[in-house]
Amino acid sequence: MAETALMPWDRPAPEKAGKPSVWSLLPEDFEAMGAPGRAAHLFNRLHRVHLWKEGAPWISKALREWVATETDASLPEILERHPSMDGSTKLVLRLSDGHRIEAVHMPRKVRSPRVTYCISSQVGCAMGCTFCATGAMGILRNLTAGEIVGQVIALMRDLGPDRGEQVTLVFMGMGEPLHNLDHVHRAIRVLGEIEGLGLSAKRITVSTSGLVSGIEKLARLRPRPLLALSLNATHDEARSATMPVNKVWNLARLRQALDAWGLQRGEKFTFEYVLLAGVNDTPEDAQRLGDWLGDLRRGHNVNLIPMNEHDHSTFHEPAEDRIQAFSDRLKAQGCFVTVRRSRGRDVRAACGQLVKEKA
Ligand code: SF4
Repeated sequence: MAETALMPWDRPAPEKAGKPSVWSLLPEDFEAMGAPGRAAHLFNRLHRVHLWKEGAPWISKALREWVATETDASLPEILERHPSMDGSTKLVLRLSDGHRIEAVHMPRKVRSPRVTYCISSQVGCAMGCTFCATGAMGILRNLTAGEIVGQVIALMRDLGPDRGEQVTLVFMGMGEPLHNLDHVHRAIRVLGEIEGLGLSAKRITVSTSGLVSGIEKLARLRPRPLLALSLNATHDEARSATMPVNKVWNLARLRQALDAWGLQRGEKFTFEYVLLAGVNDTPEDAQRLGDWLGDLRRGHNVNLIPMNEHDHSTFHEPAEDRIQAFSDRLKAQGCFVTVRRSRGRDVRAACGQLVKEKA
C-alpha cells in the first residue's frame, strides 16, 4: 500500500474561498498574517472554550473583522445527539461540504473527573476492516486540521467539559488517523498550544490499524501523542482476513515498528483487541497474543473489546465465559488487561454506524 498523492484519502477538503480555517492556525500564523493586536491574545480568546459557554468572549471589533475577512471561522455543526444510558453521548456532525462524521463524548465521574472525546480524522475510511461500519463506507476524504480542531471546539462548547474535568482525546472515531497524519499532527499542535486548550500530547491517543509507514513517521514527530494499536488477530492469516492492512505490513513488521518507536519515560502503548466470537477468541489466541507482545506485556495496556454488533457485519460478541477465559490467560502471562465494553452500545455507538445508516 504505497502512499501516493493521488490516493482518494489525499483528496483535499474544500477551502472556503481560499481562506484558511482559523482553527488550523497557530499564534505565529496570526502574526505572520498581520492580525491586529497580540497574536497570543487572539488565539487565547478564540480557543478558551469555557469563555464561550458563558457568552461570546470579548474580542475587539478590529480582531473580529479580521477573523471574518481573512479566515474561515465556521465550525462543524452538531446535527444529532444520542445520549446513552452509560452516560456517554454519541454525536453526528456536519462538515461545511455536507459530509457527516461521528464523535463520542465520554465523561467519567469516578476517581478524578475526566472527559474523553473520541473524534474522527476522515470521512469514511480506506482500511476496510471487516468488523467496522466505517470500513464499509470506503473513504470519501480527509478532514483538514481546521475541521479536526473545530470538531473538538464544537463538542466542548456543546457538552462540556465541566470545570475541573481533565480532558483527553482519542482518535478512534471514523478514519485511519495515520492516513491523514499531516492534518492530524497539525491539529495536535494547535490543541496543545498553551494559550489555547493546552492539551498535552500525552493526553491524546492516536489509534492505528497498523499502518507501519505512518507509525514510523509519527515516531519522529514532536509533539508525539500516545499510540494505540488495533490488533484483533494473532496470526497473519486471520489478521489479513479481517484487516487488509496486514497483507502489506504483517504482524512481524508491525512488531518491528513498535520496537523502533523509542519509548520515552512514562509513555505506554495501548493494544486494542476486538473479540469476535469463534474467530479470534480461543485460549490459543490469548497465548499467541501474549507471545507477540513479548517484553511489551508489562507496562502497557491491553484492552479487550467484545464486538459491538451492528447490521454491517456478521461478527458476534463472544459469550461471557469466553471473554473471561481470554482475559485470564493474558493476565497469567503478565499482561495488564481491561475488558472494555464500547460506550453507548444502546445508541449504536459502533464507529460509523449512524452515518452509514443515514447514507
Ligand atoms: S476499524 Fe478503524 S481503520 Fe479499520 S475500517 Fe474502521 S475506522 Fe478504518
